[in-house]
Amino acid sequence: MFLKIFLLLFYMEFEKIKDEKNYLEFNLINSNETLANTIRRTIITSVPVFAADKIEIIENDSPMYDETIAHRIAMIPFTYSDNYIKKDKCECKGKGCNKCTVTLIVKKKGKANVYSGDFKSSDKNIVPVSNNILITKLEENMNFEIEISVILGTQKEHSKFQNSIASFSYDNPDKITFKIKSISGRNAKDILLASIDILKEKLSEFENQIRQKNSK
Ligand SMILES: [Zn+2]
Repeated sequence: MFLKIFLLLFYMEFEKIKDEKNYLEFNLINSNETLANTIRRTIITSVPVFAADKIEIIENDSPMYDETIAHRIAMIPFTYSDNYIKKDKCECKGKGCNKCTVTLIVKKKGKANVYSGDFKSSDKNIVPVSNNILITKLEENMNFEIEISVILGTQKEHSKFQNSIASFSYDNPDKITFKIKSISGRNAKDILLASIDILKEKLSEFENQIRQKNSK
């Protein structure tokens, strides 16, 4: 009931301007800045995407320091799948299992360059968004072997989990133009829909609290 009233109060229309894989632009008609900002903040703080969690350097003969390699890998965006849950909410209690963690292995011997495309993933649906990110260069007979754990996270936890650049503007508060540019492996419309699911979930938790308080 509470949820219905809330949605009626915030009745608004969606008017699509541009809908591409990594970019969504739309107008919010009959809306207001507060609601637009709520959606924007939910996108920024709460919509998860994949990034490297732990990077184990097994062997690194390359001229690059282990820390530099780990930092480069942490910045790589990965593709997205709905089949995983956040590690901190997983039944493995943060140990890491196949419901919350994807493992990628990189093993290469020089003379060669190591690229993000060399990562062998435990799930073919979770891989770096680009194959051409250079990790390091190997000379003759240099070995390179690392293992990467990739998990879901939000920007609130770490900037490496930033999903998009979301912003809005208006000349007239009744018609707000909203833009979402994905910089992760999750597409822009999916990011918007996920933010609305999160808001609905928060509101229904709130509704339940009110109901429980009333029944006491
Ligand atoms: Zn788990």
